[in-house]
Amino acid sequence: MIYKSILLFGAPGSGKGTQGKILGTIPGFYHCACGDVFRAVDVRSSLGKAFLDYSGKGKLVPDDITIALWSQQIDGMMQSGRFKPDIDFLVLDGIPRNVNQAKILSSKLDVRRVFHLTCTDRSKIYDRLQRRGLKENRLDDINEDVIARRLQTYDEETKPVLEFYGPKLTTHVNADQWPYQVLRNILNAIENERD
Ligand code: ADP
Repeated sequence: MIYKSILLFGAPGSGKGTQGKILGTIPGFYHCACGDVFRAVDVRSSLGKAFLDYSGKGKLVPDDITIALWSQQIDGMMQSGRFKPDIDFLVLDGIPRNVNQAKILSSKLDVRRVFHLTCTDRSKIYDRLQRRGLKENRLDDINEDVIARRLQTYDEETKPVLEFYGPKLTTHVNADQWPYQVLRNILNAIENERD
């Protein structure tokens, strides 16, 4: 089974989750945020502990664990009928997060478009993350050192994923705009992808 997919791509705090959640409410789109999949795991389990350990340091969880958990989640959603791959676009946010993950997933994903949410002002990212951290009780978002490390991880490991998919598949969207404006840009581009 190969899933026709849309990737939401961008630095932590660029608004991938906000856009993904909205898209996921539209019939024909199923949203899966990799960070949410991890956060749903019982923190007392060994997997939950590993997640807290890596994310608390601003690092990526190892690829084998990540891909296994993600596949399990998608299979579950398919079995319950919430995700219907024959009709739904899979909207991914937070995965693939490095080139190795992109390679592993290449046999499963038919990537139709990659939306790169660009944020020119990094201080804005700190503001957004810290506000979210307090609101959603996310420890990895509150501490400035952890945020800095997450941004470094993004620059070093995640950004090369854009080159993996290439400029033809990529649409850059200015994420400094209001969410409804970002959404409008995304929807306009998707319009051209529908079969
Ligand atoms: P954000 O929305 O701020 O980018 P996420 O909620 O997507 O953050 O991710 C939080 C943390 O979960 C990451 O810092 C990382 O430790 C872990 N994580 C999420 N997705 C992946 C992934 N695809 N591979 C490895 N680790 C991941």
